[in-house]
Amino acid sequence: VTRKVLNFISGTWTGGHPDWIERRNPADLSEIVELWSPATLGQLDEAVASASLAQLTWAESLPETRASILLDMARLTLERSEMLARELTLEQGKTLAEAQGEIGFAAQVFRYFAGEPLRLSGISGRSIRPGVEVDVRREPLGVVAMITPWNYPFLMPAWKLAPALAHGNSVILKPSELTPGMAARLAEIAEAAGLPRGVLQVVQGSGSSIGSALAGHPDIDGITFTGSTETGRQIARLLAPHKALQMEMGGKNPLLVMADADLDAATEAAIKGAFHATGQRCTASSRIVVQAPVAEAFHERLAQRVRALRCGPGIAAETDLGPLVSQVQHDRVRGFLDLAAAEDAEIVAEGLPEPNGPQGHFQRPILLTGLNSTSRLTREEIFGPVATLEIAEDLDQAIHLVNDSDFGLSASIYTTSLAHAAAFKQRCRAGMVQVNLPTFGADYHAPFGGWGLSAAGPKELGGAIEFYTRSKTAFTAA
Ligand code: NAD
Repeated sequence: VTRKVLNFISGTWTGGHPDWIERRNPADLSEIVELWSPATLGQLDEAVASASLAQLTWAESLPETRASILLDMARLTLERSEMLARELTLEQGKTLAEAQGEIGFAAQVFRYFAGEPLRLSGISGRSIRPGVEVDVRREPLGVVAMITPWNYPFLMPAWKLAPALAHGNSVILKPSELTPGMAARLAEIAEAAGLPRGVLQVVQGSGSSIGSALAGHPDIDGITFTGSTETGRQIARLLAPHKALQMEMGGKNPLLVMADADLDAATEAAIKGAFHATGQRCTASSRIVVQAPVAEAFHERLAQRVRALRCGPGIAAETDLGPLVSQVQHDRVRGFLDLAAAEDAEIVAEGLPEPNGPQGHFQRPILLTGLNSTSRLTREEIFGPVATLEIAEDLDQAIHLVNDSDFGLSASIYTTSLAHAAAFKQRCRAGMVQVNLPTFGADYHAPFGGWGLSAAGPKELGGAIEFYTRSKTAFTAA
């Protein structure tokens, strides 16, 4: 029986528009994974009203109550992880190992934020006026709208939801229309953990209808968005200026390999950063820059590894790269490959051919060189298993290439020189800089986010308190 995915409004699972929409398995387009029901605009209003009401009580709940619900969400996520990972692979396409990693990290995020309500925060001190005390406390933002992408369909909503709940907010989540099922599973976990009715709402629907109505809704207090830079622009225009805004958007994350680098470690980082998750990561390294003396040696190592990469159904153990998520995404990546051909790029290596068998959005990995630094391939986010190689003479030129970008999410350097590492960390314009580590990866207790066109507003994860709370200054005369 095909699963039916509903909306979660006021603590009730409910259908919306009468027409069900199909989500097909991107690795086998003949398979309908689920049918889902978009919420109506009336249901969106109902969800916002219910979230406003529930937030007042939730904000007053004892820290211990919020902590224990978040701990239960972590536990339930782990208990259900096998089923969740399998469904994630079927709905989104990534490999089972990647899906397991995503679910496991979400559980860790719940566990980390369970501690947050129990941590004291705030500042207190004496006023400049005699006999007066000042304290600056953090209070919940209020009703938070969340609009999330399809590339981490469980983790993205989870890593926003956990701090939102910890800090006493209520939430209206609008997940990507390509992955409605994982968001519904998250809400089931919240419900089973005893989250009070109305604190979390899930409204399913497209960006242009329910997404834009949510962003422009007068009764939300803020919005947190992860997705493309173009959608981010539209959302920022819809949001009233006095509302809080947090956005994590696209990236073009360079990986630098210096002549003194451990080339094996750098090769591993390039393979995982450029091609794993089928390149569909905001922190993917689709631009690789190598210092001239080791360029040939590095290209050879990388090419050898690329040639062995296998794309196929994420559910199969031998698959390195699952399919792309959709036809739109596949067309976009093919568009970049056509452009590469038009610009006379050289194909350094290709992965194993796409599988014969069920039709899916498969794309073998491709490593390119010979493009100049003004090409769209070296400047724009590709979001597919395609990477470009460039050569830099020295560190200055390499850092110049990193900084000559509108984005600024993550950048990596592989080097054994402390001086190179220090200069790179200091001079790169990016929200996250990494030394001898790949461009992807996050620590839940450290701020996550970019600069430039990659982000706006406070950081996520370890920086989340800045967005999910607002400060209030209290003056007391004794
Ligand atoms: P997208 O921008 O197409 O969609 C993201 C979400 O926005 C979806 O839920 C969509 O329905 C909604 N949306 C679309 N138009 C809207 C509108 N006009 N008003 C309101 N909502 C609207 O992005 P995507 O294709 O789902 O995800 C891929 C993008 O996400 C990539 O650019 C990637 O870099 C980015 N991303 C960034 C991070 C990060 O942390 N920086 C993490 C993951 C993904």
